[in-house]
Amino acid sequence: MKIAVIGGGLAGLCAAWLLSPRHQVTLLERHARPGFVASSVALGDGADALRVDVPLRVFYPGYYPTLVRLYQALGVATEPVSYATTLTDADGRAYFRWRNLRLGSLSLPYLLPQDLLTRRARRIAGAALAFGRLARQAAARGELAGQTLGEFVAQHRLAPEFVDGLLLPTWATIATCTLQDARAYPAEVVAGYLVSGVARQSVRRAVQGADDVAARLLAGIGRVECGADVQALRAEPDGSALRVQRADGSAERFDHVVLATQAHQALALWQDARPDEAAALGAFRHCALEVLMHRDAAFMPRARRDWSAVNARVGPGLDRPETTIWINAVQPALRHAAPLFQTVHAQREPGPGLLIARARFERPLVDAASQRALLALQRQRAEPGRRVWLCGSYAEAGVPLLESAVRSAYGVAAALQSTA
Ligand SMILES: Cc1cc2nc3c(=O)[nH]c(=O)nc-3n(C[C@H](O)[C@H](O)[C@H](O)COP(=O)(O)OP(=O)(O)OC[C@H]3O[C@@H](n4cnc5c(N)ncnc54)[C@H](O)[C@@H]3O)c2cc1C
Repeated sequence: MKIAVIGGGLAGLCAAWLLSPRHQVTLLERHARPGFVASSVALGDGADALRVDVPLRVFYPGYYPTLVRLYQALGVATEPVSYATTLTDADGRAYFRWRNLRLGSLSLPYLLPQDLLTRRARRIAGAALAFGRLARQAAARGELAGQTLGEFVAQHRLAPEFVDGLLLPTWATIATCTLQDARAYPAEVVAGYLVSGVARQSVRRAVQGADDVAARLLAGIGRVECGADVQALRAEPDGSALRVQRADGSAERFDHVVLATQAHQALALWQDARPDEAAALGAFRHCALEVLMHRDAAFMPRARRDWSAVNARVGPGLDRPETTIWINAVQPALRHAAPLFQTVHAQREPGPGLLIARARFERPLVDAASQRALLALQRQRAEPGRRVWLCGSYAEAGVPLLESAVRSAYGVAAALQSTA
């Protein structure tokens, strides 16, 4: 069959790679490079140049079985990275931190006695342990369905120092959303992520970064067209095929189309979606965000001894944490290089001459409405005679991460295959 995959994020790359051995596949991506690597940055020149992922993307095996399966199939090497974290007030003073001990495949968070000197830190640590226990028990008993994270912590009267000082900022960092959106996250989804072993297994990254993953996928895809901005998708009047129209006016017919864009982009492209299909896509909200790559150490905790791999600045007046990743601490090849940082939701610009790159992203949000829409998408995917397939991190259960992007691609490829 002749199949178009629109969107070269990880979901689209993976779907195109899975379908290419048996079909005539064309991947269409509007950026000059596949979206998964469109914002990577090259540091240095010539043979010494080192590519750094923007944004940095990590995973841990317990929550990412499908990504692990893909990386194994592709031969992508991965390495453990630190997830030690420091939380600071708006002025950069640390109020809580955890360190990260890595022993082989085991990886544990731990605190030193000096991390517990303040009452605030002790309250946070005590409530964190209680939260872990309560979330595991409630998840095992199936009691979290229909409850938001905010409702769960209120029901269990967890200390505000923990809720506002650790839980919500950490979740808002993982999901790159506002603190309010973190509160509205389904408790079941948050617990699913936290109880899958994140506190025991090493967080990992692809050793050669996203570029290496993309290159391995691209090598197996029939035809790839970057700079191809798709404007519209609709069925031919006789229903025999789909017509994909680009912004440059050209059009092409395909037997099937995999829409591997964000939900709202898919909705804008898909001109003859049925009302129930449009309603399901329209239920996914997303947040826009910016990542800065820079060398400005003023984004880090004030005291150098408080620096961690991940540093989240939280404070009154901030609707979300400003999170700075210390890239030297997570990318071993850069351990001895000049300080390099990535900041999400920067509250100010880096100092003169210290900004290296700026990239914008969109990320789906998970809430009660998106959970309902997910069920509708799954029902629609199972209908016979489909030609349009929705694929992306938003289209699978769980936190929209690399895992759900890849799981969605495997699901669409299997469903599309069964129609052949
Ligand atoms: C700051 C940040 C940090 C993150 N960190 C992690 C992490 O550590 N671990 C993790 O697992 N996940 C992380 N994620 C999430 C993860 O990156 C995403 O879940 C995943 O990459 C989404 O892939 P996708 O293919 O579903 O969507 P996208 O990557 O958004 O892909 C959609 C593609 O469609 C293309 N497109 C859109 N419209 C058109 C059009 N009209 N024509 C042609 N092409 C079009 C876009 O250019 C894009 O390339 C992070 C995300 C962000 C923003």
